[in-house]
Amino acid sequence: MKIFCIGRNYADHAKELNNPVPTEPLIFMKPPTALVVNNKPFYYPDFTQDLHYEGEIVLRVCKNGRSVQPEFAHRYYDAVAFGIDFTARDVQERLKQKGQPWEIAKAFDHSAPIGPWVPLEELPNPKDIHFQLKKNGQVVQDGHTRDLIFSFETLIVYISRYFTLQKSDLIFTGTPAGVGPVQIGDVLEGFIEGRPMLTCAIK
Ligand code: MG
Repeated sequence: MKIFCIGRNYADHAKELNNPVPTEPLIFMKPPTALVVNNKPFYYPDFTQDLHYEGEIVLRVCKNGRSVQPEFAHRYYDAVAFGIDFTARDVQERLKQKGQPWEIAKAFDHSAPIGPWVPLEELPNPKDIHFQLKKNGQVVQDGHTRDLIFSFETLIVYISRYFTLQKSDLIFTGTPAGVGPVQIGDVLEGFIEGRPMLTCAIK
């Protein structure tokens, strides 16, 4: 199983970190050891002093495909979940300044908590999913997938040019504005269409 992640896929988030708005999708990956399921707690890693949450809609790939054509892309995912792309922002900044890969800042153990799957047919509008992240009960991120720079279908087409998509691969589709730090003792909660989907306590 592969976990693809998309960086800077909402213009308002690219701007808040002073990054350019991309002209093609920015892809990175996390290993399966990044996943956290069943609302298990997250233990603050010892290699960062600036751990950030990034709340994201995650796609579940439902069939194998290579070089998927745009008109068929919608057939390659069948459900979404709420996920957090935890990022050691201080480590990432250091790596970015040196032009080096991001893996240790993004793909470390337990950096990808994820909630249960919502089948596409249960969503009021799969083209415009409303999702929110609360930190200690306050909404800190409030996103709509209509604001994606690269749509779910565009991502399927793009990724499958380089990597064979396989059933049960995941795609973290990017985070809207409002990312920020967490501290030990904080509780993050993710919502899709107002439904609570994920709880993550920082220990
Ligand atoms: Mg992200």
